[in-house]
Amino acid sequence: MSSNSTIEWTDATWNPVRGCTKISPGCKHCYAETFAERFRGVKGHPYEQGFDLRLVPEKLAEPLRWRTSKMIFVNSMSDLFHDAVPDNYIAAIAQVMAAANWHTYQVLTKRSERLRKLLNTKLRFAAEQRHIWWGVSVEDKKYGLPRMEDLRNANAEVRFLSVEPLLEDIGKLDLRGIDWMIVGGESGAGARPMQKEWVLPLRDQCKRSGVPFFFKQWGGVRKKKAGRRLDGKTYDEFPSRVRHPIMSAEDCTSAASEIEARYHSGVVFPLSALNAQVRGTLVARVA
Ligand code: SF4
Repeated sequence: MSSNSTIEWTDATWNPVRGCTKISPGCKHCYAETFAERFRGVKGHPYEQGFDLRLVPEKLAEPLRWRTSKMIFVNSMSDLFHDAVPDNYIAAIAQVMAAANWHTYQVLTKRSERLRKLLNTKLRFAAEQRHIWWGVSVEDKKYGLPRMEDLRNANAEVRFLSVEPLLEDIGKLDLRGIDWMIVGGESGAGARPMQKEWVLPLRDQCKRSGVPFFFKQWGGVRKKKAGRRLDGKTYDEFPSRVRHPIMSAEDCTSAASEIEARYHSGVVFPLSALNAQVRGTLVARVA
């Protein structure tokens, strides 16, 4: 977890959950696993338990303490919708995102069925907010296309696709209801190569459908050398962002303390310490 990130399409990462398990071919060379396992057994290190999944409630309120507006990749070291993460913990994370609404959040999952179910029920209050973007990974047809359908059927204001690592030609996509596409190749030792012929049709489909397109990288063993230009151009497009005012430092501190305290005592929706505007929204949505 970090207030700065080297990932091209975000500013910061926030990890109230650490660790995960593999679910599809896109996970084969999971960078989070490689990183976390390096520190297994290192006493006192955040990844002392390697890539074993665990909740990190002390990180729950972190975005409320960040006083400048950022784009935040939620759970870069895990998958928020992993079945070992309890509903009430996911709801508490969503509530922090709803409260600290001067940031933009990017939530990316490979567990799209659970995303769809929760966004249509317990997380409806967060799904309807434009500053929270919900995305699924689409590495191939077999796993990626059903995830797209789940995403399209989820009650989300902003939906995106992370087509990364792109492992095959995924052909023509139905981009209705999709607000952003990231495309990238795999990097690091043993990286599976990506073909230009798989990327160009995706760029062109985005252009025709008016979907912002972000080309992250070609990848490969030496990703810096391969770069991120496509046909001589850098593609850095994003959906438009909403801007909300930053809560006062005092309100942030009390909201953070309350969310943490309430979570620990088993109450999912802490409202009293939040500012009137946010509180009003949440009461309306949660009721
Ligand atoms: S879902 Fe994401 S974090 Fe989890 S193992 Fe796969 S690539 Fe890694």
